[in-house]
Amino acid sequence: MVVRMRHTRAHTANRRSHHALENPTLVTCECGASRLKHRACPSCGRYRGRVIVDVAAKAAAKAARRASRSQEGEGAKEAAH
Ligand SMILES: [Zn+2]
Repeated sequence: MVVRMRHTRAHTANRRSHHALENPTLVTCECGASRLKHRACPSCGRYRGRVIVDVAAKAAAKAARRASRSQEGEGAKEAAH
């Protein structure tokens, strides 16, 4: 598209008056950590009093994945040489 008319500074400022970012709404979880509203808690995995995410199992899976990935990285380096 081609710009046909020059916008005045006031017009640009009026449009940008709606562009400000809002602060995320934080609430205190029942575990004591602060979390985003309407999101499961990242530290205890609970939402509305129920456990939704198994945080311990997720952390263990992430550690295992990281370990296997670092081994793969070393193998790739050796293959390149
Ligand atoms: Zn929590």
